[in-house]
Amino acid sequence: MSEPITDTQNVVHVSTGIGTGCQHCTQSIGLDRFAESINHYIQEHGYRLLHVGQQTEGDSQEPYQTTVAVLGTTLRADELPSRPQVKVTMG
Ligand SMILES: [Zn+2]
Repeated sequence: MSEPITDTQNVVHVSTGIGTGCQHCTQSIGLDRFAESINHYIQEHGYRLLHVGQQTEGDSQEPYQTTVAVLGTTLRADELPSRPQVKVTMG
Protein backbone atom coordinates (compact mmCIF):
# COMPACT_ATOMS: atom_id res chain seq x y z
CA MET A 1 0.00 0.00 0.00
CA SER A 2 1.36 3.35 -0.97
CA GLU A 3 0.61 6.54 0.81
CA PRO A 4 -2.16 8.53 -0.82
CA ILE A 5 -0.94 11.80 -2.25
CA THR A 6 -2.71 14.58 -0.49
CA ASP A 7 -2.30 18.28 -0.38
CA THR A 8 -1.32 19.58 2.97
CA GLN A 9 -4.80 20.89 3.17
CA ASN A 10 -6.36 22.36 6.21
CA VAL A 11 -10.11 21.84 6.28
CA VAL A 12 -12.64 23.44 8.56
CA HIS A 13 -16.35 22.85 9.00
CA VAL A 14 -18.96 25.48 9.66
CA SER A 15 -22.37 24.33 10.85
CA THR A 16 -25.66 25.97 11.68
CA GLY A 17 -26.00 23.31 14.39
CA ILE A 18 -22.67 23.71 16.15
CA GLY A 19 -21.10 26.80 17.58
CA THR A 20 -17.34 26.77 17.71
CA GLY A 21 -14.42 29.09 17.43
CA CYS A 22 -12.25 29.98 14.47
CA GLN A 23 -9.19 27.75 14.24
CA HIS A 24 -6.96 30.74 13.73
CA CYS A 25 -8.37 33.49 15.88
CA THR A 26 -11.01 34.09 18.49
CA GLN A 27 -13.91 34.68 16.10
CA SER A 28 -17.12 32.80 16.89
CA ILE A 29 -18.02 30.34 14.16
CA GLY A 30 -21.25 28.60 13.28
CA LEU A 31 -24.85 28.71 14.48
CA ASP A 32 -26.59 31.91 13.43
CA ARG A 33 -23.28 33.29 12.21
CA PHE A 34 -23.17 30.74 9.41
CA ALA A 35 -22.70 32.99 6.40
CA GLU A 36 -20.55 35.37 8.37
CA SER A 37 -18.38 32.49 9.48
CA ILE A 38 -17.84 31.30 5.92
CA ASN A 39 -16.90 34.79 4.85
CA HIS A 40 -14.60 35.07 7.81
CA TYR A 41 -12.53 32.06 6.81
CA ILE A 42 -12.46 33.18 3.18
CA GLN A 43 -11.62 36.80 3.80
CA GLU A 44 -9.49 36.61 6.89
CA HIS A 45 -7.66 33.34 6.43
CA GLY A 46 -7.60 32.69 2.68
CA TYR A 47 -9.84 29.64 2.64
CA ARG A 48 -12.10 28.72 -0.21
CA LEU A 49 -15.51 27.14 -0.05
CA LEU A 50 -15.39 23.45 -0.95
CA HIS A 51 -18.87 22.26 -0.18
CA VAL A 52 -22.18 23.30 1.32
CA GLY A 53 -24.81 20.75 2.17
CA GLN A 54 -27.63 19.69 4.40
CA GLN A 55 -26.96 17.28 7.20
CA THR A 56 -29.27 15.54 9.60
CA GLU A 57 -28.27 15.85 13.23
CA GLY A 58 -29.79 14.83 16.48
CA ASP A 59 -31.20 11.46 17.42
CA SER A 60 -33.99 9.44 15.83
CA GLN A 61 -36.47 10.98 18.26
CA GLU A 62 -35.71 14.52 17.30
CA PRO A 63 -33.75 14.80 14.09
CA TYR A 64 -33.07 18.24 12.76
CA GLN A 65 -31.49 19.61 9.63
CA THR A 66 -28.36 21.62 9.74
CA THR A 67 -26.45 23.29 6.97
CA VAL A 68 -22.79 22.48 6.89
CA ALA A 69 -20.08 24.20 4.91
CA VAL A 70 -16.64 22.78 4.31
CA LEU A 71 -13.81 25.17 3.63
CA GLY A 72 -10.24 24.35 2.85
CA THR A 73 -6.92 25.89 2.16
CA THR A 74 -3.81 24.37 0.70
CA LEU A 75 -1.72 26.49 2.97
CA ARG A 76 -0.33 24.77 5.99
CA ALA A 77 -1.46 26.03 9.34
CA ASP A 78 1.85 27.79 9.90
CA GLU A 79 1.61 29.50 6.51
CA LEU A 80 -1.83 30.91 7.04
CA PRO A 81 -2.12 34.61 7.50
CA SER A 82 -2.71 35.33 11.09
CA ARG A 83 -3.42 38.49 12.86
CA PRO A 84 -2.05 39.27 16.23
CA GLN A 85 -4.81 38.98 18.72
CA VAL A 86 -4.14 42.26 20.37
CA LYS A 87 -7.21 44.15 21.24
CA VAL A 88 -7.38 47.23 23.34
CA THR A 89 -10.38 47.17 25.57
CA MET A 90 -11.30 50.40 27.17
CA GLY A 91 -12.79 49.74 30.54
ZN1 LIG B 1 -10.44 33.64 12.24
